[in-house]
Amino acid sequence: MKKIIVANWKMNPASQKEAKKLFDAVKKFHLKNAEVVICPPFVYLSQLKGLTLGAQNVFYQEKGAFTGEVSPIMLKDLKVWYVIIGHSERRKYFGETDELVSKKIKASVQAGLKVIFCVGENEGDEKQMVVEKQVTEGLKNISSKEMKQVTIAYEPVWAIGTGKNCSVDETLKSVLLIKKNILNLYTRQLSDTIKVLYGGSVTAENAGSYIKEAGVNGLLVGGASLRAEEFINIIKSTAY
Ligand code: PEP
Repeated sequence: MKKIIVANWKMNPASQKEAKKLFDAVKKFHLKNAEVVICPPFVYLSQLKGLTLGAQNVFYQEKGAFTGEVSPIMLKDLKVWYVIIGHSERRKYFGETDELVSKKIKASVQAGLKVIFCVGENEGDEKQMVVEKQVTEGLKNISSKEMKQVTIAYEPVWAIGTGKNCSVDETLKSVLLIKKNILNLYTRQLSDTIKVLYGGSVTAENAGSYIKEAGVNGLLVGGASLRAEEFINIIKSTAY
């Protein structure tokens, strides 16, 4: 099965010109065994064509008086396939709760989007408890059928943007923990087939070890996705 390599550009780059340049550099590189998803800021989505696109956020209403928000059907209309929901930066800086995350996931799957649902513990947290709560509450209204549109990204908060990536062993344990939580909520079949990504200080150097040894279906890449050559090398790590 194809590995999924997701680029989360966060609030970068600063201009349309740079966004197009970065996108085109990645586009030139094509690898059959990876699905590459680029998640740029909203304002660049309509201009980038030729690779699968994702959004970094979404609101749960379809339309209306919600100043500054973007709805799932608007993304769908733009031919955006994926949306990242529950990223730790949204939880931390914008106060997103599990309740809000769950509404966003529901609205997005109902609109036909694929969801990359981020979970992960802070430094010093009891991982098992945090991940279980985030998974259970985030997915509380999601049916087994809708779960086919959900991919879970394990992103320990302490590893995001810090250069301190999670060890392969710990990542594997987290993947198994997430699958166990899915088994508690759904079926064995869903638990076996749910896609789990790892994110947190992924680089071209460490990407291959996650792909080969951590039981993940792909990677969610922040900082390194802004450097075309490094991101391409991360994509290449899926070909082993
Ligand atoms: C992220 O933003 O999801 C992320 C994993 O960032 P970084 O790769 O920079 O740690």
